[in-house]
Amino acid sequence: MMNIVLSRDTLNLVHQLQRMTGENVMLCYQCKKCTLGCPSAYRMRMKPHELMRAIQLGQEEEIYWSGTIWICLSCETCNTRCPQGINILRVIDGLRERSKEVNYYNPYPVIPAFHRIFLSLVERFGRIYELGLAVLINLRMLSPFKDMDMAYPMFIRGKMKPLPHRSQGVKELQQVMERIRKLEESKLEN
Ligand code: SF4
Ligand code: SF4
Repeated sequence: MMNIVLSRDTLNLVHQLQRMTGENVMLCYQCKKCTLGCPSAYRMRMKPHELMRAIQLGQEEEIYWSGTIWICLSCETCNTRCPQGINILRVIDGLRERSKEVNYYNPYPVIPAFHRIFLSLVERFGRIYELGLAVLINLRMLSPFKDMDMAYPMFIRGKMKPLPHRSQGVKELQQVMERIRKLEESKLEN
């Protein structure tokens, strides 16, 4: 049997993710149980068990190229099936966070843009503002009139409000989000 020796550079991604998420990807022994239960695996170019292997081998560019971290539905089925107790979703969330710092190709740019805009609107108004979300996503994707035909019937039925409404608990929500940001920053520094 051939022994594979991993260099410090190769293991860099494993260590970075362990610092961010507390999860040790080296525990994965490729049993594939995560992939067999994953509802999105059929759409993934890199299946969950392959993602874990790619992390072990430091193949960060290939990971982002596959787009798997954005196809994941965050359903946590993989976590419940992993015999090694790895929280795979936490690892995927760590990669999503890292993707802001590294500049690799993403085949699904609309998904992280949606995440960011959704969160910033919720932080501002304490609830989602559907029209603002649709307009900002369309502008971000340089297609300002996309799906306008769907918006009209929603206006007529009162399902979509023209102006945002602030929720009463918006101040508390902003404080919680600020605390989360600070916690994440301090985790990254340690
Ligand atoms: S959390 Fe993501 S990777 Fe895990 S089973 Fe659900 S969709 Fe698949
Ligand atoms: S279920 Fe756990 S050990 Fe098995 S392949 Fe997936 S991550 Fe690795």
